[in-house]
Amino acid sequence: MQHLITPNDFTNKEIKVLFEDARLFQDLQSNNLLNGKLIVTLFFENSTRTRSSFEIAAKRLGAAVVNLEVQTSSTKKGETVEDTVANLNAMKPDAIIIRHSECGLPASLIEYVDCPILNAGDGKNAHPTQALLDLFTITEYFNGKIKGKNIAIVGDISNSRVASSNLELLPRFGLNPILVSPTRYQVKSKFKTTTNLQKIIDDLDIIMSLRVQHERHDSNTLVQDLEKEKQEYAKKYCITKKLLKDKDILVLHPGPVNRNIDISNEVLLDKRSKVLEQVANGVAVRMAILKKLILQ
Ligand code: ASP
Repeated sequence: MQHLITPNDFTNKEIKVLFEDARLFQDLQSNNLLNGKLIVTLFFENSTRTRSSFEIAAKRLGAAVVNLEVQTSSTKKGETVEDTVANLNAMKPDAIIIRHSECGLPASLIEYVDCPILNAGDGKNAHPTQALLDLFTITEYFNGKIKGKNIAIVGDISNSRVASSNLELLPRFGLNPILVSPTRYQVKSKFKTTTNLQKIIDDLDIIMSLRVQHERHDSNTLVQDLEKEKQEYAKKYCITKKLLKDKDILVLHPGPVNRNIDISNEVLLDKRSKVLEQVANGVAVRMAILKKLILQ
């Protein structure tokens, strides 16, 4: 049984096949490949894109979806997540999709299930489907010629599961990540790291902007200090037209975008920004992943 906990659960060869399927699903039309299958989603952390993307992907493949409302579930009555998952598993779903704030939780649930577990984000640890859809979007944009491309990952690297999964995945396909962030969001890394985006802009083919994960920071920061911190951050790291000029740079963001802090309004409207293509590709890639894991 294959699960998807981190991007390393799929080989490069498997990912290439997955992307061939995703390309076929790119029109986002319905089919009946997963007719009669049932998928459970369990989101213990907020989500707009990932949860709806998985649900739409499952429904486009003809599967039924049960979204467990965790706010009203028995975990609120003291049941452990392991017991909740074991109970759901007893009802014989064909896959369980889980998001949780605890790093490593989805991996620890594998022993309680007889169906694939898909990690939809565990704390700051991993977000494999986001990294796969990012790689797919990059591959499509450059018509497959992605080897040697330089990608700046800009933002709260230390708290971002999107950064960690992309750093695991992108170099396997020949991309060169450069980590760009204020010192306080830096991590120890084998990749080039800088605080100065302006200085490296001419070397870049792709910018992946990330949200600052304030919810994972010290919650004692005063509201006015937080606002000041955001504005200070934006001055150096917001992706603006002034920064991009007329350079041919692909601009990505996993969402939710903090407008004019992560990316300016103007750049979001620019054809170099492929943020909504990422969202559309996310459904196609998740269709391919669900097909692969459920029909394995
Ligand atoms: N949507 C992404 C995630 O779930 C990024 C973010 O929340 O900023 O990690």
